[in-house]
Amino acid sequence: MSTKYHSRKCNCRCGHIHDSKKEAQRCNELQLLQRAGEISELEIQQKITLLPCRKYENMPNEREIVYIADFVYKQGKTTIIEDTKGFKTKDYIIKRKLLKDKYCRGGDVIFREV
Ligand SMILES: [Zn+2]
Repeated sequence: MSTKYHSRKCNCRCGHIHDSKKEAQRCNELQLLQRAGEISELEIQQKITLLPCRKYENMPNEREIVYIADFVYKQGKTTIIEDTKGFKTKDYIIKRKLLKDKYCRGGDVIFREV
């Protein structure tokens, strides 16, 4: 199985539990890049709010929408949000669009699929 959707949990060299072998391998690469000083502030499985929870009069409240980024790191002054998903669900595509609209329009934050 090559897609994240069908694949098993997998550990990287740092002992994180990743959702796929591809994601664990990418984590190993990013750890090396960070040690080499190419990137910094590497975070894994970071929760990013796309839409906060909303309370309404006379209507049910709505829970927040969050996107869990596989990796977030800095490359120079640019923040990179990175996703390694092989299989792109409809939910994922909508979240990607919301994320890019909310965070990536200034040019200092870049979303990348690897
Ligand atoms: Zn890892």
